[in-house]
Amino acid sequence: MTTEFRKLPSVDQLLSHSLINQLSASYPHAFVTNLIRKQLDDARQTITAGNRCPSLNEIAEAVVSRARKYTATSLRPVINATGVVLHTNLGRAPLSQDAIDAMRRVSSGFSNLEFDLESGARGSRQAHLEGLLCEVTGAEAGLVVNNNAAAVLLGLSAHAKRKEIIVSRGQAVEIGDSFRIPDVMRQSGAKLVEVGTTNCTYATDYEQAITPSTAALLRVHSSNFKVIGFTNEVSIEELVTTADKHELSVFDDLGSGCFLETTAFGLTSEPMVQRSIAAGAALIFFSGDKLVGGPQAGIIVGKKQYVDKLRRHPLARAVRIDKIRLAGLIATLIHYVRGEATAKIPIWRMIATPVAEIERRACVWAEATNGLGMVIDGESMVGGGSLPGGTLPTKLVVIGQGGKKASPLVINLSRALREWQIPVIGRIQDNAFLLDPRSVLPEEDATVCKALEELCRRS
Ligand SMILES: *Cc1c(COP(=O)(O)O)cnc(C)c1O
Repeated sequence: MTTEFRKLPSVDQLLSHSLINQLSASYPHAFVTNLIRKQLDDARQTITAGNRCPSLNEIAEAVVSRARKYTATSLRPVINATGVVLHTNLGRAPLSQDAIDAMRRVSSGFSNLEFDLESGARGSRQAHLEGLLCEVTGAEAGLVVNNNAAAVLLGLSAHAKRKEIIVSRGQAVEIGDSFRIPDVMRQSGAKLVEVGTTNCTYATDYEQAITPSTAALLRVHSSNFKVIGFTNEVSIEELVTTADKHELSVFDDLGSGCFLETTAFGLTSEPMVQRSIAAGAALIFFSGDKLVGGPQAGIIVGKKQYVDKLRRHPLARAVRIDKIRLAGLIATLIHYVRGEATAKIPIWRMIATPVAEIERRACVWAEATNGLGMVIDGESMVGGGSLPGGTLPTKLVVIGQGGKKASPLVINLSRALREWQIPVIGRIQDNAFLLDPRSVLPEEDATVCKALEELCRRS
């Protein structure tokens, strides 16, 4: 073994290797020698584990790929052909061109983020957006923070610390990625009082749980599952009436925060922000990057006195939104004010695309598969914590249908597409590989076809 250790090249030997020389032309000397030392450490471990000493070439190549790993960003664009329009793992909502332009403009130089151009004095970053939020939702006041989890945490911390919050047992839910309503409440210092049963909760259940320590009644939109069969939920209107009787307020965690009537697109009904405002909820929380179709954000709208208290809370600073996403969100809200959401906001363009148009695109995709794929009927999902159980009719390109298990063709093709220059992500269902044009921007069709042509020719 010691003889193997003696074969290890020196740092200087590696530095004069031609591959490392090329590397040294683009990177600082200290960076390159640091990579070499790390690679030599790895080689020592390999030898300790009882293996032979890697050759000079092998070590030099490993140093180069180490450098590549550091400097290539691992976060990059993919094409979402899963048919899930709001895919949390694929980054939720893609942004409109106006939103992207606004974000670029505000990030490439300075801005009046917290500067009032009229008076020359300090301004508020929230002021740029609050008027728009109120216009779109009908609220008295609005505030934007980092994300919806932060919005709920801030709302409960400011209004319910050391007090009780009453929530239906059917709504004390986990949203995913370990966001659990009961945990967030505990973190805020509020005490959770669960009422009703998993499937049925009535107004009287809330009333019987009210004590002098009650801060508010909370509704949580069960955004990622559906209870079917014998069920009862208290509507937001009835919840507010119940709270009013006891001079209490209602907080509403809507999750996806929809501004448009989803039934107009053949979807199930998703609770709208405007309805909660009209019903009289004091605070409403929702995400910026779910059905709003903007950048990641937590949006809070409601009654002025309730929202104002949040602005002054110490947590507000810890969870505040940055200028870039603020600019993107403003541009997104302007689409709603102008009545052009379904034409300009990508997720709404996808939801509103007629099946005939999807079929036309699916046929073009299928033609690129060298006879491997055909077009069939299917369902797209909105996803991302909205419209549980709600699907949209679509057309899919299917490859390798009818097997008892997924064939090597299906497995290899799905992997090859994932590893394509711009990864194309489909889904495997009933052992077949499926691609859904609904969640793909039409501008990306050419890339999908090129990948299919190349890879299906090889298969
Ligand atoms: C998605 C969701 C959240 C979390 O929102 P983020 O913006 O991801 O932090 C909270 N509550 C509900 C009901 C949700 O659907």
